[in-house]
Amino acid sequence: MSSLYNSIIIGGGPAGVSCALELINEHETNFLLLEKGASLGGKLHIISCSVRDLGGVYFDSGQEYLNSLQLCIDKFKVPYRTGAIVQKVDLLRKIVFVAGEKLEARTMVIAAGVRTQKLMPTGQNELCEQIIYYVEGREKEIWGKRVVVVGGGDSAVIEAINAAKNGSVVTVVSRSPLRARPDLVQSILASKNIEVLQDYEVVAVLGTSTISAIEVLNRSTGDKTVLPTEIVVAKIGSVPNSELFTGQIALDQEGYVIVDQHMQTSVTAVYAAGDIIDARYLRIGTAIGGGVAIAHEILRSLGLQKKTCTQS
Ligand SMILES: Cc1cc2nc3c(=O)[nH]c(=O)nc-3n(C[C@H](O)[C@H](O)[C@H](O)COP(=O)(O)OP(=O)(O)OC[C@H]3O[C@@H](n4cnc5c(N)ncnc54)[C@H](O)[C@@H]3O)c2cc1C
Repeated sequence: MSSLYNSIIIGGGPAGVSCALELINEHETNFLLLEKGASLGGKLHIISCSVRDLGGVYFDSGQEYLNSLQLCIDKFKVPYRTGAIVQKVDLLRKIVFVAGEKLEARTMVIAAGVRTQKLMPTGQNELCEQIIYYVEGREKEIWGKRVVVVGGGDSAVIEAINAAKNGSVVTVVSRSPLRARPDLVQSILASKNIEVLQDYEVVAVLGTSTISAIEVLNRSTGDKTVLPTEIVVAKIGSVPNSELFTGQIALDQEGYVIVDQHMQTSVTAVYAAGDIIDARYLRIGTAIGGGVAIAHEILRSLGLQKKTCTQS
């Protein structure tokens, strides 16, 4: 294989993987998928609830969907590296640096997703560091306790429901009305163990060596209240992983990558898909669709589009 790839894909979540699978499906193999994690899948690793918004297919969890994706990745021999942190890029020249190695390509795909937004209350650093952002693997610290979950989206509501089902007494603190999926909101409102404070925000984390309470501000009245709690879980949104590309391509005010109708960024032959372009949807379906579309844009731009029937 040439050391000059036809394409390098940065990020092995649903967007990057779907782009890779579509390239393989179209018999294009001179590309490389780079994932900084120990395995492919991105956020699929942390979806503990069912995945049911993929246009008619259903999985009990993100991991179950990932197992299915991994079967395709192995069967069709998708070329990828894990543990490959892209540390530096030159998008104009289509160069990436991974662990000191320089890799070059004709086209590039940015599929690096988003990360969790951190809560910024006042309080000792030691206490702020105890705020839990990723629950996966820490359930036993949370279940059966008095818990505050901060946020009003899907992730916050799912964590609140899981904790309440497992014996926690939960207060959800949301700056705005809950904006999670309607079925999740219904479950939370029906739960006896969950109180919901909407139009409130967390202003301080209190305690000595461990968290014992938070202070919340009622955004309508300006009143402050102290809520005793042992655990604070924060699920307050996302920040795009676009720092690597800052100054090289057009980003919006929040740092999301701007693409045109062909998924191309402001730099020719550099494409982007998935959550990193998608503050509005943040969905697997849009990530997959974007990845597939990019694969065809790449083939077209390189003059590689084949007219073969891909049914087998
Ligand atoms: C709790 C939870 C529940 C969800 N439930 C649903 C649901 O039911 N249905 C739904 O449609 N969506 C759901 N989502 C959203 C869905 O997971 C995302 O929309 C989807 O994973 C986005 O895919 P992506 O490929 O854009 O990004 P990601 O999945 O975030 O993947 C990006 C990948 O890029 C890698 N990366 C980042 N920077 C670098 C770098 N410098 N070098 C190399 N690799 C890098 C990351 O390690 C990561 O693996 C949920 C999300 C969460 C958190």
